[in-house]
Amino acid sequence: KVLCFEGIDGSGKTTLVRILSERISCPVLVIADPGGSELGNRIRRILSDSGSTAHPWVDALLFLAGRVENIHRMILPALQQEKCVLLDRFFDSTFAYQGYGQGLNLQALKKVSDAVLEGFRPDLTFILDCPVEVAAKRIEDRPEVLSRWERLGRSFMERVRQGYLEIAGSDPDRYVVLDATADPETLCRRVLDICERLRGS
Ligand code: C5P
Ligand code: MG
Repeated sequence: KVLCFEGIDGSGKTTLVRILSERISCPVLVIADPGGSELGNRIRRILSDSGSTAHPWVDALLFLAGRVENIHRMILPALQQEKCVLLDRFFDSTFAYQGYGQGLNLQALKKVSDAVLEGFRPDLTFILDCPVEVAAKRIEDRPEVLSRWERLGRSFMERVRQGYLEIAGSDPDRYVVLDATADPETLCRRVLDICERLRGS
């Protein structure tokens, strides 16, 4: 199974994924997208160096490239070994940030993404929905993220949040919206509950 976790910066994806990885009973592969593979990590560095002064399509294509690399080099081999894969971000980040946030044409983004991912998608995606003010407070001690926020503006993060909610609403079978203001322990239990029910059905 491939489970994906999405949400704005400071919504708690990385923390939740870390706790889950310790609780899930089968062997787990965690991937923070972009990143994971060697090339993926290089792409992540390029993206953080660019400081997002590049055209949003450049960012989008780099994110997509990292993802293709991850699928073939990390995710598919892990699934063959019957591992459970936890994704800290995946394609919905690109739709939410570069589409809803930065205004790239969503249909075009989706077309390109679908084409290069060749039908690969997570089995279930959890959207950690978080008010922008709460997230902002949480990332106060992460200057690199804050500086990006300041450049793009708070309304940018607001658009990203609404984008995620719209994506979730468009396909309720594949998305679960979680209240990210809850404590990580509670969120972890909810996710495990839902996975258990999935397995039973
Ligand atoms: O995954 P992480 O939360 O560490 O994201 C690193 C940075 O990349 C964040 O500041 C986020 O806003 C940005 N990002 C982006 N577009 C994406 C994914 C992440 O601008 N598609
Ligand atoms: Mg994170």
